[in-house]
Amino acid sequence: MFCSIIKGDIPSTKVYEDETVFAFKDINPVAPVHILIVPKNHLSSVNDVTEENSAVIAHIYEVAAKLAKEMGIAESGYRVVSNCGKDAGQTVFHLHFHLLGGKVLKLEMC
Ligand code: 5GP
Repeated sequence: MFCSIIKGDIPSTKVYEDETVFAFKDINPVAPVHILIVPKNHLSSVNDVTEENSAVIAHIYEVAAKLAKEMGIAESGYRVVSNCGKDAGQTVFHLHFHLLGGKVLKLEMC
């Protein structure tokens, strides 16, 4: 489904895009800043990360830091989290990282 968002077939509020990464606002935000950062190449979850494809994960953290600065939450603090599998609450099986901030985040969030 996030492949369709990346292609533009499903509308989203894009906040960042480059060759390998796409970032957009979560449709159901749980914090004032709630952005999803996804690799364009489809990986289902953290379980699919390997030595061959892991460079994009470091890049996603670079993008998270850049977006946190732009959104004004770099100093107040934020969370970058990826849910992997059923017990973690993963509902969309296209690897994504939640960037959450703008309020005090409880530990049980996401
Ligand atoms: P997960 O539960 O898999 O960690 O996170 C999936 C996230 O994707 C949820 O926070 C949910 O609100 C968001 N989401 C699901 N469908 C859409 C959609 O069509 N558009 C956007 N912008 N976010 C979505």
